[in-house]
Amino acid sequence: MDQKTIKYIDEVEIKNKTILLRVDFNVSLNPNHLTIADDARIRQSMPTIQYLLQSENHNKLVLVSHLGRPKGERLSKFSLHVVCDRLESYLNSNFKVRLIDNFLTESDNTFIDQKEHEVFLLENIRFYPQEEKNDATFSKQLAAIADVYVNDGFAVSHRNHASVVGVTEYLPSYGGLLLKREIQMIEKAMHKPEKPLVAIIGGAKISTKIDVLSKLVNVANYLIVGGGVANTLLHAQGINIGDSLAERDALKLGQKLLFQAAQHDTTVILPSDVVIGDPDELEHGGMVIKLEDMPPYGRILDIGPETKARIGNIIAKAKTIVWNGPLGYFENIHYRQGTDFMYYAITNNTDATSIVGGGDTLAAISKKEYLDKITHISTGGGAMLEFIEKGSLPGIDALKR
Ligand code: ADP
Ligand code: MG
Repeated sequence: MDQKTIKYIDEVEIKNKTILLRVDFNVSLNPNHLTIADDARIRQSMPTIQYLLQSENHNKLVLVSHLGRPKGERLSKFSLHVVCDRLESYLNSNFKVRLIDNFLTESDNTFIDQKEHEVFLLENIRFYPQEEKNDATFSKQLAAIADVYVNDGFAVSHRNHASVVGVTEYLPSYGGLLLKREIQMIEKAMHKPEKPLVAIIGGAKISTKIDVLSKLVNVANYLIVGGGVANTLLHAQGINIGDSLAERDALKLGQKLLFQAAQHDTTVILPSDVVIGDPDELEHGGMVIKLEDMPPYGRILDIGPETKARIGNIIAKAKTIVWNGPLGYFENIHYRQGTDFMYYAITNNTDATSIVGGGDTLAAISKKEYLDKITHISTGGGAMLEFIEKGSLPGIDALKR
């Protein structure tokens, strides 16, 4: 086993330092790209930011984040400007946040010789093509800004990028408080989970979930599958799914997974009844049918009541629950009942440790009541799945040096 462990910021003394703090402020924006739709990712890193800014420690903070996928181009619609203002509103009123347009041209990084109570935010790090290439020179240039590096961006820690991995070669590197919570909560659920462990995987594509499914099928007692992922598995079993969303070329993948499940003590729960309809039709709801009555051009958009009843029983008895992926086409209100049902089933089971993550999954539940009944809402989508699968991530390994 790996002897080296991460040091978190609350386990070391960081004083009189300039700290380069990698956060994930990749917030969802409204369609105009001018306002923030959901700033949970900013709020979740505030404990780390506040901790590092404690006045008696006299640290200076330079934050690094990406936003969207500008792919190495300076595109104003991906500017962190809007994040800058929001961050400032969450800091003590005497703090200002300054956006550094291009840290490579601010000569000698003089921007850091600041007045007190100034926090810096580098402009979108993915404006630099070197970032996603994990370019060594660029990593050094980033490192040159600071004395210490802290990673609090769990949601980006599956990326082998300069501001996540490369920079740790050149600075003493630590984990932030959000990173710590994410790691500890997911490890607790996955390493020695209290059984029964119930995993729920939904969403659009099996190809984006197959790695985590292959892992879960080994460790979970129940694997509940919904959404397009379930359609693909049903199809792999030779069941007629009409015109439903599925990856029909993933037949072998699906068959292998079902075979694996049979080898282990894992019960795979697939829908037995479904709601079919037209995804773009907003006036009328769909129609509940048994799978065997599937019409040739039917489209499965949600799970049916019989399936919900079976699932509800399993969730109620679970001791550990991991959920990623909506169980239906939740964007249309008529087809979000399965996803809503799952949410309420999980929040009702207050005995269980529950972990929920995924961009669309959170979008489906984030406005609901009882969110506090979920043990841990992960900020990571892809990162959470990869961490469950592999037990670590490149950005986490990089802190273990
Ligand atoms: P997450 O971001 O939480 O990991 P995914 O990106 O994998 O989730 O999948 C979410 C998408 O899957 C949503 O847009 C949802 O509408 C879609 N989806 C789920 N079930 C179905 C279905 N039966 N038919 C069509 N789309 C579906
Ligand atoms: Mg998604």
